[in-house]
Amino acid sequence: SKDPVRVLVTGAAGQIGYAIVPMVARGVMLGPDQPVILHLLDIEPAAEALKGVQMELLDAAFPLLKGVVATTDVVEACKGVKVAVMVGGFPRKEGMERKDVMSKNVSIYKAQASALEKNAAQGCKVVVVANPANTNALILKEFAPSIPPDNITCLTRLDHNRALGQIAWRVKAQVSDVKNVIIWGNHSSTQYPDVNHATVRTSCNGEDKSVRELVGDDQWLNGDFIATVQQRGAAIIKARKLSSALSAASSACDHIRDWLLGTPKGTWVSMGVYSDGSYGVPAGLMYSFPVTCDNGNWSIVQGLRIDDFSREKMDATAKELSEEKALAYSCLD
Ligand code: NDP
Repeated sequence: SKDPVRVLVTGAAGQIGYAIVPMVARGVMLGPDQPVILHLLDIEPAAEALKGVQMELLDAAFPLLKGVVATTDVVEACKGVKVAVMVGGFPRKEGMERKDVMSKNVSIYKAQASALEKNAAQGCKVVVVANPANTNALILKEFAPSIPPDNITCLTRLDHNRALGQIAWRVKAQVSDVKNVIIWGNHSSTQYPDVNHATVRTSCNGEDKSVRELVGDDQWLNGDFIATVQQRGAAIIKARKLSSALSAASSACDHIRDWLLGTPKGTWVSMGVYSDGSYGVPAGLMYSFPVTCDNGNWSIVQGLRIDDFSREKMDATAKELSEEKALAYSCLD
């Protein structure tokens, strides 16, 4: 049988942490035949709650779970991890300036970058979930220069999955029959959910049809559809009085699983990755692109046609990311 893989979850006593650890322990992230050892990190005020999570993991008797390291020591948490899911971050609080929140997260991600660089296993793959996810990932990359930039990503898969869900609902299809939506840019309300290349497998003959053709309502696709995906997080907070944790956790598993085990032929997913300048997106930003994955490597899907509507939206979200980057750097001085 396979050797266990060590998976780090930071902010593990929080909402998303609580939702994701059982998924990882059940093989949802790394596969049903892959044993895991969970490394759970949280901060001192959450230490007691973290103990509780550790107790529940024992009580759940997960066959694939070979051990749990629950700690408030970032070095101990990072030792030997092959996968790092960075959920811990400083939340936006009422009355706080954007710069104050950024400054807190910059120092968290700077410290965690060094701990990962020095202690994680060779080839460790990192996904940042905590907001501002793209910029936190960029800081992590900057302060972990020995980790290949390709191994540091941020989560936009939840937005991607939300877009699939909205299309499936609208055309009354199974969500598994919808594919190749794209989330461009920032994991924020400026993200651009793009359906211009998306298709739905039709039930009559199993043929892929274009979403634009099937929906037949460009006004909805260019308007309410985009707004619904962009504002879905807020809608969930309104309904649940808590933020989305189940879907965030599930999509983080999807992100890592597809990255490590590969995307199905003919299908791409959205990932926040270090821009190489593809599609005229400034190099050096962490930007969400359509990617295919094979054997632990992602590559940006090339050659998609970009119309004027898309161009404008892709540039607007890039501009926001450039501003966030500048703000983050100003916090380093
Ligand atoms: P959640 O588990 O709900 O969220 C964690 C982070 O994920 C937040 O930054 C949140 O952003 C972000 N996020 C990204 N996508 C989503 C989404 N779709 N839905 C909800 N959140 C999303 O937060 P909790 O407060 O429950 O838990 C955070 C944990 O982190 C706590 O246990 C806390 O102790 C720990 N923490 C760790 C720190 C550190 O490592 N130094 C510092 C501070 C806290 P957003 O804020 O925008 O909702």
